[in-house]
Amino acid sequence: MIIHNRTKIVCTIGPASGDKKTLRKMVEAGMDVARLNFSHGSYEDFSGIIKNLKEVSGELDLPVCILQDLQGPKIRLGILPDNGITLKKGDRIILSTKLQKATNKILPVMYKHLPKDVKTGDTILMKDGMIELKVIKSGKTDIQCKVESDGTITSHSGINVPTATIRAAVITAKDKRDLEFGLKNNVDYVALSFVKNAQDIKDLRKLIIAKKSHAKIVAKIERHEAVKNLEEIINETDAVMVARGDLGTEIYPHMVPIIQKRIIHEANLHGKPVITATEMLQSMVTNPRATRAEVSDAANAIFDHSDALMLSNETAVGKYPVEAVRTLNNVACAVEKELQKHEKFLPNKLTEDPLPASYAICSNAARLSKNIGAKLIVAITSSGFTAEHISKHRIYIPIIAITHDPLVERQLQLVWGVRKTFVTKGKVIIKNQQIKQMLLKSRLAKKGDKIVIVKNASKVDKTISIIVI
Ligand code: PGA
Ligand code: MN
Repeated sequence: MIIHNRTKIVCTIGPASGDKKTLRKMVEAGMDVARLNFSHGSYEDFSGIIKNLKEVSGELDLPVCILQDLQGPKIRLGILPDNGITLKKGDRIILSTKLQKATNKILPVMYKHLPKDVKTGDTILMKDGMIELKVIKSGKTDIQCKVESDGTITSHSGINVPTATIRAAVITAKDKRDLEFGLKNNVDYVALSFVKNAQDIKDLRKLIIAKKSHAKIVAKIERHEAVKNLEEIINETDAVMVARGDLGTEIYPHMVPIIQKRIIHEANLHGKPVITATEMLQSMVTNPRATRAEVSDAANAIFDHSDALMLSNETAVGKYPVEAVRTLNNVACAVEKELQKHEKFLPNKLTEDPLPASYAICSNAARLSKNIGAKLIVAITSSGFTAEHISKHRIYIPIIAITHDPLVERQLQLVWGVRKTFVTKGKVIIKNQQIKQMLLKSRLAKKGDKIVIVKNASKVDKTISIIVI
């Protein structure tokens, strides 16, 4: 049985889940989007996973969307001794860009401009914020630091600098190579890590267009500059991710829930899908059951109106990838039932008149569907716009999308409330009679059901109509 919820589930695929059997079970359990994390893994690994995903999708006759996640300018330490290095509060250490391997109290950093980007008094965090350093003095190649909290660091630990701006290009040479691989393999979304501003999204868009791809972009909000530039980034991107892992080291962890709500709210207003990510069911990496707190967090991300929830280590390297998907599905099912009882029509970005016609037609169609008690709302869409802008109002009438483009069909798997998509051959004009047949045949509707049809909201020839099956 394939499980369908309105909330979508993104799963990171890795050694624990890349085989066909597990992928199939995950799709059946409710996975909508497969994320390939290019911080880990080889092209050979990814090719194998993509091949398996396509086969599973074909066998189940279900679209599976692929999201390529580019690593971005993650700053890391170099090589440390096997057991790591233990730091004690009060220790003085040096971060150096000259070395590859650590020597006593001198730790190698793999980003050569770090000494230039930080100044006396800045905070440097290592290992997801577990270890804090204060910069005493920064020279040409060395940064003298004082240790502020105890902990053990290991090779390639990540580094965050919450009080300074890292000037490294957001799209690195590795990202460009990875992007080329991804686009050749027809990924549907490309996620960009450590986005700073709208220009980063424009730069990625240029690279994607140059390869003649229509892949959409996910902006990962995970650094303090992105929080400041949130609105311009959301205006420019196609989708957003609340990347809580790095975000929680770039800003205080206790601010993450607040920023999460802000990001989701802003994305909802713009009609752009938003994914809430990281440590969702972290304990399920080793345990068959999630903690109460994790379940609560997942539920609250849905109450906040996320389009999708994401699993990372849980499905990439965890012991219980399928159970983790099932857990999120159960949570989604319960929360959606509750939200539906108190259904609230979420607003448009522009509340004052005049509302652009492209927005107005989608919100009017959503209201009309409620008013007449429609069974379904059908969005005829060539780019996904119509479905996304109906979805953003969060009405509990399932959205059925009809598009001529299989890429758009896959991209819509990320959008809340899109229950099913149909792909037509060529840019045919769809007659109401054909729509009736499609819905009857797929048992989505029965005789007497009222259906609202919205066509091409972003185009000139937009229409709303009502049919009775
Ligand atoms: P990552 O991004 O898993 O690629 O680091 C997500 C996050 O930082 O939360
Ligand atoms: Mn991250």
